[in-house]
Amino acid sequence: MPPAQTPEPPISSMPERPFISVVIPCFNEEAVLENCYDRVSAVCNELGHTWELILVDDGSRDKTWSLLASIAAQDPHVVAIHLSRNFGHQAALSCGLNHTVGEYVLILDADLQDPPELLSEMLVPAQEGFDIVYGVRKSRAGESLFKKLSASVFYRFLNYLSDIEIPRNTGDFRLLSRRAVEAFKQLPEHSRFIRGMFSWVGFRQCPFPYSRQERLAGTTKYSLRKMLSFAVDGITGFSIRPLKIALLLAFIMAFFALLGAGWTVWSWIQGGTVRGWASVLVASFIIGSCQLFVLGIIGEYLGRLFMEAKRRPAYLVDTILHERNES
Ligand code: UDP
Ligand code: MG
Repeated sequence: MPPAQTPEPPISSMPERPFISVVIPCFNEEAVLENCYDRVSAVCNELGHTWELILVDDGSRDKTWSLLASIAAQDPHVVAIHLSRNFGHQAALSCGLNHTVGEYVLILDADLQDPPELLSEMLVPAQEGFDIVYGVRKSRAGESLFKKLSASVFYRFLNYLSDIEIPRNTGDFRLLSRRAVEAFKQLPEHSRFIRGMFSWVGFRQCPFPYSRQERLAGTTKYSLRKMLSFAVDGITGFSIRPLKIALLLAFIMAFFALLGAGWTVWSWIQGGTVRGWASVLVASFIIGSCQLFVLGIIGEYLGRLFMEAKRRPAYLVDTILHERNES
């Protein structure tokens, strides 16, 4: 007689550590959630390993939370987390990562621009010993020219400024080993730029080229304001070079000041010192704007120091459904 097939154990009696954890932050994603859950759960089931899916509702104002709660009620693989308000993509993702217990962790977006079907291919280098397999976008469907262009300029600039190399054309789509996630969890900063933080973590990393798809439905949740603040987080979180601009500007200004002083003395000796209204005004405009620029940079860092000094958590949790005991 063939051995009776054992049904899959409920998650509470499953071994402590599932093989794979998938993390998805969601903000006003009612249009894509069910589709997203269907595709991700199909991929995980096909894999034939234990898995969990961590869905974080980042303070949505639509039906996202009630959808998440009903998905969690039907499927014990799902851990649904409701944040107390909208803390932003990076904070929501950090919350999800902090709640994973799987041996490998896959980061996805709810709109499935990064196809979950690539998981089994990404697992190959991961199982060969790469701790971080990061997606590199070969092509980006459905993204505006402005977004592609601004991203390209930003990452060039960031890499010029920063001491660590942050790969270009890379988002948060990546497969992580448990030790990479544990290392990430030790980074306590409040302003989080996760792709940079994973570059900083080190270990063995490998790129994974793929084609980025169009958003399944709905619109981008990254407003221009959020994108700008994300960019400033990236720069101030990984470089203090902008602060050094002050010194560079001071040298340049000192050079021109010396020239100006020589010229002024020379004109005085010649006896023709009344004219010069325009040049004085232009010089004071230039010097004034340089000073404001430098003050602005210092202010940006000071503000971040202030936020960090308060040591507030990056997010607050309202409700968790199906929480597992953290190992
Ligand atoms: N997101 C979030 N909180 C926010 C903004 C976005 O959790 O404040 C989530 C969003 O639901 C999605 C992911 O972050 O799962 C990426 O957002 P989106 O796809 O809108 O960004 P884009 O791909 O346009 O850069
Ligand atoms: Mg997207």
